[in-house]
Amino acid sequence: MDPTDLPPPPSLPPQGDISQPGQVTLVGAGPGDPELLTLKAVRAIQAATVLFVDDLVSDEVVALAAPGARIVHVGKRGGCKSTPQAFIGKLMVAAAREGERVVRLKGGDPFIFGRGGEEVEALQAQGIRVAVVNGITAGLAAVTSMGVPLTHRDHAHGVVFVTGHAKPGDAGTDWAALAAAASRARLTLVIYMGVRGAAEIQQGLLQGLPAQTPVAVVQNASLPQQRQALCTLGDLCETLAREQLASPSVIVVGEVLADAAANLAETLAASQRA
Ligand code: SAH
Repeated sequence: MDPTDLPPPPSLPPQGDISQPGQVTLVGAGPGDPELLTLKAVRAIQAATVLFVDDLVSDEVVALAAPGARIVHVGKRGGCKSTPQAFIGKLMVAAAREGERVVRLKGGDPFIFGRGGEEVEALQAQGIRVAVVNGITAGLAAVTSMGVPLTHRDHAHGVVFVTGHAKPGDAGTDWAALAAAASRARLTLVIYMGVRGAAEIQQGLLQGLPAQTPVAVVQNASLPQQRQALCTLGDLCETLAREQLASPSVIVVGEVLADAAANLAETLAASQRA
């Protein structure tokens, strides 16, 4: 197709208009550290009259909302049951129809494993205008916090963000096939929601990647309570159990981590000096 046949890209709302009355704005809240929010995210949060806040959105980010704004927590943090997706949708539609400036705050980036795509479809099906603001996804922050690049001309030609937890009824990722592709194409793997299924993931990946492939597990990336462990693919499960690493964590697999131990020591030393 001739590139001139492409439809023009949708124009961004002018500054200050990102969160309009009657519209739902899906906002990426990033991995937790409020300093990792985009300026557009901050503007949308501050302009909102009602915010529907997901699991894993840090309190510091929610605190940026205007004093009179209504905050509705729809996550399952604290052991409560999460609000069913359809019900959240109904609440957002109702608020938008009442002319509120609705913000849906989602951890990381709304379109990386956040069901953002499903929410946009459901809202648009009800005739609601939707805008989306990117956030820094957890995997990106996790790897960077260790002073490690996701790609490197000598170690990794690309990166795969993949979920370790499929929808019920879905067979999920073919880990052996992914490992073979990662080995051939020299890719870094960033696995979200992988802690619970780590045994199966490890077993599958070992069919295509060597046991000594470096692995990092990063829990609560970018937050003061961040913890991480470096290990190999061969001792991933043992490490998870020994270090008691739990959700929310990302598991990173690949040769870019080979120098991570040295980088980590340096990064930590630098942050202690700062
Ligand atoms: N949209 C989010 C991902 C939602 S899925 C994003 O872009 O980051 C939830 C999963 O994300 C968690 O199970 C975990 O794997 C990962 N995650 C979210 N926040 C995290 C954090 N601060 N540190 C490590 N992993 C995190």
